[in-house]
Amino acid sequence: MSKANATETPLDAVAGAAGPRATEVFSVLGHDTRLAILLALWEAYEPFTADNAVSFAELRKHVGMRDGSQFNYHLKQLVDYFVRQTDDGYELRRAGHRLVQTVIAGTGLEDVALAPTEVERACPVCGAPTAITYRDEMLVHVCTECEGRFGDREQFRGGTLSAAGLDPAGVPDRSPEELLNAASIRGTWNTQSRIEGVCTGCSGPIDSWLHVCDDHAAEGVCPTCERRYAVMARFRCPVCKASGEIVPSCSWLVMHHPAVVAFYYDRGVPLQYEDDDSGSFQPRYRDVDPKEDIDYELIAEDPPRVRVTFRHEDAELQLTLDEDVNVIDVGVKD
Ligand SMILES: [Zn+2]
Ligand SMILES: [Zn+2]
Ligand SMILES: [Zn+2]
Repeated sequence: MSKANATETPLDAVAGAAGPRATEVFSVLGHDTRLAILLALWEAYEPFTADNAVSFAELRKHVGMRDGSQFNYHLKQLVDYFVRQTDDGYELRRAGHRLVQTVIAGTGLEDVALAPTEVERACPVCGAPTAITYRDEMLVHVCTECEGRFGDREQFRGGTLSAAGLDPAGVPDRSPEELLNAASIRGTWNTQSRIEGVCTGCSGPIDSWLHVCDDHAAEGVCPTCERRYAVMARFRCPVCKASGEIVPSCSWLVMHHPAVVAFYYDRGVPLQYEDDDSGSFQPRYRDVDPKEDIDYELIAEDPPRVRVTFRHEDAELQLTLDEDVNVIDVGVKD
């Protein structure tokens, strides 16, 4: 360890420890006002709210700083790292959320991006070729032709089929297919943990419920909810506000249920851990066609009940979900 000279800051002295970007980010955080801004934006954030932006004036008032130019200086230091500026004000980027969550929950940064790249996976909605893109620490799977499952909204652009958090460390040295598999494994793991009541962000409890759009368009992406499907299973952690939603017919949601595993296992459908040429690992149910083999139906509205159907050749497995996303009934038809 070299002896620091007089003009070197302590952060300069440890620049070799985690690389220059890490020390840059640490120094950005080195001010009470900036930390207060991050906390104020997190406090204002509410999952599933269309607009979480806080105006400059509101934010300055909340942080209690009189000097506008001083406040603006500190706020600008955070933009690009932790804060996003929108037309309506300021909001936390995912890295900002993670940082606050880390502080609150008791865990990281490199700028990795991937331009849309085609993957060998047909669109579960229309059968067209699909592509992946990586930004803001999200791996986004998009259809190259149809509107996908989601319209334009926070984190998603038209054509989005799924979006899953994938840390930058998961991106290098993986093919596009492997990236999609990695994101899908993280997504399924997250979902299973949430279904079993544990937040993967902070280990806190999870609220889960079926969200039903009350004015859903019969076809395409609905203008009311910006989703193709009227029903979504939603998860929210009341401690760190980690959240996610999933289409009931997505295999991620109930794939770990013993009835689903048994249904496919008994019929010789490979589930996982088989080595082939498709990459270093395989997601479960890669031979199950999400367009043809899985379906869901809203069978009651108050409280909502959803029946998910899995098909294999002539056999069918049906699972009924209650309003809290618990499996309350299982039936097999051969
Ligand atoms: Zn499509
Ligand atoms: Zn949490
Ligand atoms: Zn809708």
